[in-house]
Amino acid sequence: MPTYVYRCSETCDDFTEQHSMSSIPDESTCPECGHGARRVIGAPALGAGNSAAVRLQDATRSTADSPQVVSSVPGRRRRPTPVSANPLHRRLPRP
Ligand SMILES: [Zn+2]
Repeated sequence: MPTYVYRCSETCDDFTEQHSMSSIPDESTCPECGHGARRVIGAPALGAGNSAAVRLQDATRSTADSPQVVSSVPGRRRRPTPVSANPLHRRLPRP
């Protein structure tokens, strides 16, 4: 069953209820104060889940919103690792 969001007419937080798609009430009762609450039309929860693609999208979105700032100079660069560890390759002529 889909989840629908309702907003209380008072200052309470929004709350969710699950209803079948054949009977979606436009109004409900706030569980906190008992006043009436109207259904809020929002964006569908597309892509919700915990798949790797969703996590990548969330990480990309978070870096756009709050990029990591470097607070200090990074340490010394390490020497690049040699391409080959074979000592005989050192004897080969170099260009
Ligand atoms: Zn309320």
